[in-house]
Amino acid sequence: VAHAVSHALEFDTMLSRALGAALTAVEAESGIIQLLNPATSCLYVAAAQGFSDEQVPYGQPMLLGTAVAGRTVRDGHVTRGRVRPTEECLPGLDLSDHKSYAFIPLRASDSSVSLDTDPQHQVVVGLLGVFSRREEAFHPDELDLLTAVGSQLGVAVTRAQYAADLRRANLQLETANEELKRLDSLRAQFIQNVTHELRTPLALVRGYVELLADGGLSDDSWSHAMQVTKERTLALVELVEAITTLQDLDTAPLKIGPVSATELIRTACRMADQRVIASEIKLRFEQQGGDLVFPGDFSRLAQALHQLLDNACKFSDPGKVVTVSAGISSAGDYAEISVHDQGIGIAEEEHGHIFDRFYQIDGSATRRYSGTGLGLALVREIIEAHSGWVRVESQTGVGSTFTVGLPLDGT
Ligand code: ADP
Repeated sequence: VAHAVSHALEFDTMLSRALGAALTAVEAESGIIQLLNPATSCLYVAAAQGFSDEQVPYGQPMLLGTAVAGRTVRDGHVTRGRVRPTEECLPGLDLSDHKSYAFIPLRASDSSVSLDTDPQHQVVVGLLGVFSRREEAFHPDELDLLTAVGSQLGVAVTRAQYAADLRRANLQLETANEELKRLDSLRAQFIQNVTHELRTPLALVRGYVELLADGGLSDDSWSHAMQVTKERTLALVELVEAITTLQDLDTAPLKIGPVSATELIRTACRMADQRVIASEIKLRFEQQGGDLVFPGDFSRLAQALHQLLDNACKFSDPGKVVTVSAGISSAGDYAEISVHDQGIGIAEEEHGHIFDRFYQIDGSATRRYSGTGLGLALVREIIEAHSGWVRVESQTGVGSTFTVGLPLDGT
């Protein structure tokens, strides 16, 4: 047993070798090792010998109950006796062709209580059961030997459990570390993007303002300068608003009132006006059935819809069509609003990521499309705060459809 326990064997192999050695030492035909799950107070078979596989209840939890085996674990005493049809020895195991049994608790010192070896501070971690076809088997010296085996195995089991806990903790630590690294790189990319998104329009606005102040703008370029300044300032306001909304969504409650889908879409289209004109997009609106009214925070929902429209225009070539449509879900319980574009599309494997905060398919400094990776996160968080859902259907090179569903009864 000491040999099996001290060699770096697989846990199951170690247990089954130790069991074999113990059975040989006390000349028993069959034996079993069960381990205790302290969370469920159930025993599980960990090794068995001398029984056919069908006889052994592998994988089945066994409650400690009133059977001899359960008592041994509970009291922590060695039990020995004759197999009797009237007395249950070990639930789920047929011992009818055996005459004698002995149960030995597997003990280990409970390091959470104490590091010393005081038997008072020992816990039972399982059970060794040995069975013989002989009458009156297992004499006191054999029981002493089996008790020593029980201690060896108890320590080995605890050690293996600690090792497994350590492996699990290590794995969790590694996963957490990876997640931290991912978040850190997203944060770095976000700061880079926001800085870029702030610096570019600010530089333009500042340039025009300086020209204006110095009287360096001709009458012709004056109106163009004002237009650019207006557009860029608006973009800056929207960016700051997206950041603050995401912050607010975590803390400030929604201002719920009746929302008309038609009114909502009109407002979002007005908000997207500049982008639609600048991108030379043809904007269409299709309504299936009459207007839908549902409870919601109008300005937040308009912001979400505006974001979808803004993306649809941004990722489409000039002259393409963007269609907004509203209707009711087939089950009649959701208002569904879709924004469909004929733009660059999104590859299937990206669909699960694009709603994450700061995520951009192309986050490189040389990317073609501006942005911070906050837009769709904002959409999802606003819609989910309304107990709604948002989904994307898209194909690269063909276009995308983003659909939001908002519960008509608000729940
Ligand atoms: P961004 O500020 O980069 O637009 P979003 O969160 O709005 O961030 O979108 C995340 C990414 O999803 C975008 O960088 C883009 O790659 C992709 N995406 C979003 N909307 C569309 C769309 N309508 N067509 C194609 N790609 C899109």
